Amino acid sequence: MNNNQYVYFFGDGKAEGSAQMKNLLGGKGANLAEMSNIGFPVPPGFTVTTEVCTYYYQNQKKYPEVLKKQVEDGVQKVESILGSKFTDPENPLLFSVRSGARLSMPGMMETVLNIGLTTKTIPGLIKKTNNERFVYDSYRRLISMYSDVVMEKAAGIEPEEGQGIRSQIERLLEGVKERRGYTNDTDLTAEDLKELTENMKIKVKDVLGKEFPDDPYGQLWGGISAVFQSWNGKRAVSYRRIEGIPGEWGTAVNVQAMVFGNTGEKSATGVAFTRDPGTGQNYFYGEWLINAQGEDVVAGIRTPYAVNLKSKQDNNRQFPSLEELFPKTYIELEGYRNKLEEHYRDMQDIEFTVEEGKLWMLQTRVGKRNGIAATRMAVEMQKEGLISKEEALSRVKPDQLDELLHPMVDPKAETVNHPIAKGLPAGPGGAVGKIVFTADMAEELGTKGEKVVLVRDETSPEDVHGMKPAQAILTSKGGMTSHAALVARGWGKCCIVGCGDLSIDMANKTACFGDKIYKEGDWISLNGTKGLIYEGQIPLVTIDPERNEYYKEILSWADEIRKLKVRTNADTPSDSAAAISFGAEGIGLCRTEHMFFGDRIWAMREMIMAEDIEGRKKALAKLLPMQRQDFYDILKVMQHRPVTIRLLDPPLHEFVPNEPESQKEMAERLGMSVEAVKQKVESLHEFNPMLGHRGCRLGVTYPEITEMQARAIIEAAAQCAVEGIEVNPEIMIPLTGTKTEFDNQKEVVDRVAKEVIAEKGVNVNYLVGTMIEIPRATLVADKIAEKAEFFSYGTNDLTQMTFGYSRDDAGKFLYDYYENKILPSDPFQTIDQEGVGQLIIMGVEKGRKTRPNLKIGICGEHGGDPESVKFCHRTGLDYVSCSPFRVPIARLAAAQAVIEESK
Ligand code: ADP
Ligand code: MG
Ligand code: MG
Repeated sequence: MNNNQYVYFFGDGKAEGSAQMKNLLGGKGANLAEMSNIGFPVPPGFTVTTEVCTYYYQNQKKYPEVLKKQVEDGVQKVESILGSKFTDPENPLLFSVRSGARLSMPGMMETVLNIGLTTKTIPGLIKKTNNERFVYDSYRRLISMYSDVVMEKAAGIEPEEGQGIRSQIERLLEGVKERRGYTNDTDLTAEDLKELTENMKIKVKDVLGKEFPDDPYGQLWGGISAVFQSWNGKRAVSYRRIEGIPGEWGTAVNVQAMVFGNTGEKSATGVAFTRDPGTGQNYFYGEWLINAQGEDVVAGIRTPYAVNLKSKQDNNRQFPSLEELFPKTYIELEGYRNKLEEHYRDMQDIEFTVEEGKLWMLQTRVGKRNGIAATRMAVEMQKEGLISKEEALSRVKPDQLDELLHPMVDPKAETVNHPIAKGLPAGPGGAVGKIVFTADMAEELGTKGEKVVLVRDETSPEDVHGMKPAQAILTSKGGMTSHAALVARGWGKCCIVGCGDLSIDMANKTACFGDKIYKEGDWISLNGTKGLIYEGQIPLVTIDPERNEYYKEILSWADEIRKLKVRTNADTPSDSAAAISFGAEGIGLCRTEHMFFGDRIWAMREMIMAEDIEGRKKALAKLLPMQRQDFYDILKVMQHRPVTIRLLDPPLHEFVPNEPESQKEMAERLGMSVEAVKQKVESLHEFNPMLGHRGCRLGVTYPEITEMQARAIIEAAAQCAVEGIEVNPEIMIPLTGTKTEFDNQKEVVDRVAKEVIAEKGVNVNYLVGTMIEIPRATLVADKIAEKAEFFSYGTNDLTQMTFGYSRDDAGKFLYDYYENKILPSDPFQTIDQEGVGQLIIMGVEKGRKTRPNLKIGICGEHGGDPESVKFCHRTGLDYVSCSPFRVPIARLAAAQAVIEESK
């Protein structure tokens, strides 16, 4: 029997559904049922299930046969509770039709209120309420909502900007207000509204070619169909694609008896949050309007009043609060607020209406909140005994912590400014700067201390010098894995990519956002957390996480339960120190190649140009003291914490110049012919450098490089030991594919270490291990582990080589891959568990079979991605390593992994 139940009733203190039935009833319907069950005053009604939506699309947009009867029974039930009748000319009942998917979804049909008003029922309702103004006010709302969402949108009509039926109708209303000299909608009289509704209906006929429906059931079924129709509307479909919501879910429809906040001065409507969603503070926060209906409060047609004294803001301080004006109603509402928090044990976002002094509850749902509020609420609710520590930890999304670590656009300023464009939120935080179009300009102005935003179609490695000094980067092309996005994320810099509304005219140095044109030097502001772009200078606010007690508390709880250690990728003492303050427990990847640029490039080039081993050793001897100092400085900052240092990895051609000018300079400085330089550069050229002479392959050809680096590390550690500082360097051989490669390099390192230790006469603890980034290495991990003392998965290269995609080129096709559902997400951002993940698991199993306590971690971009961190936990890794700014995110994700596992 239940299989054929398509309609679930709620109201009068009971309901057939409950909060647990979101899949069937949608979020709104499930919570209306729940509120009815706990005895809140909810206007009675019924929910048409999501199964009907699925049926509708599987059966050429037809309904199950029994639906008609079930809906009519539902209407009757409401009628008998309220003692009025839908379609009754004497005492008519009106309904709202409300959409409601499992998750709230912009792009779905909007609500239609006041269904059932017709030329026959209007006189009856006027007589019953003795309030002609209210009835025509309701009617004009019905006409404008219904013609918009049912007759136009659901019918697939796409009018030009500003020519939609709703705008046309609203212009009629504005016209009346103007002619009569009114400022507010509430100034319109019954007569005005009566005339207006007549004109509105004429307009509907004119524009849409159809009469406005004048029978209640016609309106009701029109509304229901429009909701189902909107599920596959263009906006809803694209929203689902972005959010990964499956089309099979379907939406439910709620049909609910109307209650009226627009009957006069004793009626009102409002929205509220059980806590402040902007700060997380524990007080009842909300807004309301007297004599208003539906979305008047959020639509901003009048300045809403505050629900209580505490909620008052600068713009509504002079208006009375509900607390002051209707104290009895307020106390009742506050009672529901407390009950809702107790019942749902989370912050709720509610809608209410007051009709002639009687309070009605219209909606509740878990309220959206920013990272700052999420953190505070989670901690405070735990302290109040509402939730456990584990629940508190689960309430904060790891990525939300980002908001606490970067300056951000002042949320208050964002509510009054409209964005000029939207792109992909590639780098969180806020930034303000002058538009510049070239990396050179960004560098020139940026290094002078001017604030600039680098605006480009896309960026490439040649732009990096201008990206660093820019406040933010904005590109019209590219996705979340584009060069700009990756570079910005690594630095924790604000960045928006793929802004389709942006077109750049490099010849005239202008940027157009839609029809707005900006010149070089004009100010813009970016909200990189949301991908929004604003004109001018919007104030930024910075929050020092160290001064945020809630942030510190939640992370301390995370540290109590997580099993994974969290390290950082850092190449300098200052990055290392920053990472420690974010909670890093070591360095998982210290790259050494950056250390060969600047002035040192000349010693490096001398080494590359050397004709024999003697020449190379001479050049390397110049690099040794500099490298030793590098490592000494980092080890000293990190102290006892493990520091994984990767030996030279990139191919040598990266250190020699390609341009004739620079080749000439190089020849002069090194005292050799330009021809010799040119020849060397050409001989270093590779067709596919990613798979070329790099990593341990360099060390095999030139063991003296490995020797120099090993010596620098061990001497630095020995110096620390002499100074009484305990340090733990871990020397990492890159790009190992065979056991023999690894053993070859380890032999070199151990030999040098033995020498140094003997020379210095102090003991140095060090490990020699390998990066696991070549698929073959995972297959022979048991053999490699015979000598390797640790593994660190280099998941960037492992992903490149497992898929056979070059990360730098994959941008060209990855987007098509998501579109066609070939890949669910970017494998360079979140570990591909199905494929790459299997290699990781195999490597762990094989490695630990040989060496049960083998230390294993990961050091790719993935180390800071919450989903990947959770995967690492499940796979039994010892640590993840990520950029300093992502350390707190990884700490929280690691704790959530433990919690999710125990469920
Ligand atoms: P949304 O999903 O956009 O919030 P809702 O279905 O909640 O849409 O409705 C939009 C507005 O109409 C809300 O302010 C809601 O409170 C109001 N509303 C919905 N149903 C009724 C009703 N039966 N009586 C009075 N107001 C209603
Ligand atoms: Mg809405
Ligand atoms: Mg709502």
